[in-house]
Amino acid sequence: RIEIRDVAKSFGNLRVLSDVDLTFPSGSVTAIIGPSGSGKSTLLRTINHLERVDEGTIEIDGTLIGYHREGDTLFELDEREILKRRIEVGMVFQNFNLFPHLTVLENITEAPVKVRGLGKAQAEVLGRELLARVGLADKADAYPRQLSGGQQQRVAIVRTLALKPKVLLFDEPTSALDPELVGEVLGVIGELARSGITLVIVTHEIGFAREVADRIIFMEQGRVIESGAPEQILNRPQHRRTADFLARVL
Ligand code: ATP
Ligand code: MG
Repeated sequence: RIEIRDVAKSFGNLRVLSDVDLTFPSGSVTAIIGPSGSGKSTLLRTINHLERVDEGTIEIDGTLIGYHREGDTLFELDEREILKRRIEVGMVFQNFNLFPHLTVLENITEAPVKVRGLGKAQAEVLGRELLARVGLADKADAYPRQLSGGQQQRVAIVRTLALKPKVLLFDEPTSALDPELVGEVLGVIGELARSGITLVIVTHEIGFAREVADRIIFMEQGRVIESGAPEQILNRPQHRRTADFLARVL
């Protein structure tokens, strides 16, 4: 469960997030849509403290992200503690970011061994299991450059899952892919969505959002304009701005 309370964020004079107040219940699947520059990526990045908020708080299962509380005051955590809490928040980006010099299996097992303290053999068993789940059992010993973009992104998803995060954030996971590779990655994300993990996905794939999300959030200029069931947001938006956006992308 992710709780975002009254979050605001600026870059210099540019206000990027204003009054963002959202709860993502455990096991829910939320799609965030909105025009370029509306603050979608910044919002995701605040959830694992890759960006600091200027105002407000973010909690995951009741634990503050990035800060600790003493009385009424919040203090930023030290780097080590930030990293520790960040493990609970899995994030998959547009551009895979696999280590080119490591094999697929090494890419997946490195963090669980280093960060979670899993034994190497145990991490490899887990890694192979997860690879099989996304249809890549035979690619364990390949290097990223030997894989298609869609395969690389599936490995990136497995690498994130191997850390057993409490929540999973996707930032436009298919927008760097050739059109014919989008389906295989959305298929994997769709299965995750049904698996009960708390999932937040920023996406331009409106059809996919309609299919897998419990809720769609429309953002513009750093604000949540409206949120609701896919059917409501996509078929009966309450705000003119949502309707205008949908008219442009659908
Ligand atoms: P897109 O759909 O294009 O990915 P977005 O909704 O994800 O857009 P953000 O990347 O969150 O938008 O950016 C929101 C605003 O903040 C933009 O105006 C962007 O230029 C600005 N911005 C983002 N990161 C920084 C940064 N590190 N420094 C300064 N400005 C930034
Ligand atoms: Mg973005």
